Amino acid sequence: MNFAESWAGIRNFIVDQRVAESSVIDSFYLKPKDGKPLAKFKPGQFLTYELDILGQSQTVVRTYTLSDCPHPEYYRASIKREPSPKDLPDVPSGLGSNYFHDFVHAGSELKVKAPRGDFFLNTEADTPVVLLSGGVGQTPMISMLNSIVQSGSQRETWFIHGALNSKVHAFRNHVRKLTMKRSHLHSHFVYSDPLSEDFQGEDFDSTGYLSMSLLERLLGHNEFEFYVCGPPPFMKIIYNGLLDWGVPDSRIHYEFFGPASVLKEGNESVQSQVENQGAIEVMFAGSGVKATWDPSFSCLLDFAEAQGVNPAFGCRSGMCHSCLCKIKEGEIEYNDEPQALSEPDDILICCSKPKTNVVIAI
Ligand SMILES: Cc1cc2nc3c(=O)[nH]c(=O)nc-3n(C[C@H](O)[C@H](O)[C@H](O)COP(=O)(O)OP(=O)(O)OC[C@H]3O[C@@H](n4cnc5c(N)ncnc54)[C@H](O)[C@@H]3O)c2cc1C
Repeated sequence: MNFAESWAGIRNFIVDQRVAESSVIDSFYLKPKDGKPLAKFKPGQFLTYELDILGQSQTVVRTYTLSDCPHPEYYRASIKREPSPKDLPDVPSGLGSNYFHDFVHAGSELKVKAPRGDFFLNTEADTPVVLLSGGVGQTPMISMLNSIVQSGSQRETWFIHGALNSKVHAFRNHVRKLTMKRSHLHSHFVYSDPLSEDFQGEDFDSTGYLSMSLLERLLGHNEFEFYVCGPPPFMKIIYNGLLDWGVPDSRIHYEFFGPASVLKEGNESVQSQVENQGAIEVMFAGSGVKATWDPSFSCLLDFAEAQGVNPAFGCRSGMCHSCLCKIKEGEIEYNDEPQALSEPDDILICCSKPKTNVVIAI
């Protein structure tokens, strides 16, 4: 396949096609406006979008996984419309995802940054894999599954997915079709609230939530590479369950679609360090704002915003690097270690907390 090198900065793409995948997820097929070859990506990586949304004073930056295997003609993103939280019906619904659903159609132009991300399938290996997902967390798994099929690899692959029911379940027929035709591919769908017309054995395979007991029963042994993506409670249960089952950390690969939550049970938190060491001072040097760190904040970005400092941000999960800034003094620690940064004084404030008094150049 003919692919180009990656590009720097923004490249404009035109939406070629939009396809409904479920009642809440639509796919957007993108072609480069310049007509030149696409850059190759690894299955599991994402694109970063800069969205100019009417009424927003700043560009809205969001990241969406490439939901198909590398294809020379298009990129595909599959995006779930995020409603307001159930317990907060008055807050605005998700800005970026609703913009896509309400305003992005065939012919729309999008500003896109090149593929990146360190959550991807090693396509060179033939180790058996389990692709585990909840909800829209299945987009990287679809890309991985399609890539395995595309490469002709015979590696044993389990695609195990949890959804509410068939109404919101995207890519069901696609996955079933692939796995039914190939003996090395297996699928299992768990519905927590099947509809009366959902037929067990066809639409879905079991009722409830994706649990360790289900995994142990389906897989029989743990000699797999595990890829996990879904809502934080699901991730925490599966990650710790896999460790308890004896799966080494090095064989568990995961990605959060929101702020990275602390997965590991029993982690010593910054909170306890603060109790041991006394208050931590945070100085935002560029804004002239100094404040005592409040350990109830999950990251420096949230804390900065609460002090009236308005840094740039995008994915809020250490992926897009929009919040990258310089630390002048002190030390921070990451909730979840990001990909290597170029300079020793570069930090990402969306996924870190201060470890000592810090001076940050924003
Ligand atoms: C690496 C990566 C890959 C991703 N891939 C995908 C993908 O393939 N498909 C996909 O659909 N998503 C994906 N995501 C998630 C995506 O980037 C966005 O986070 C998601 O679409 C929500 O963004 P939004 O702008 O719609 O919502 P936001 O505007 O960020 O809002 C998020 C939620 O907060 C609520 N909210 C708004 N204001 C308040 C308030 N004041 N108080 C409380 N709640 C509030 C909103 O109603 C909404 O429910 C990915 C994320 C990452 C990090």
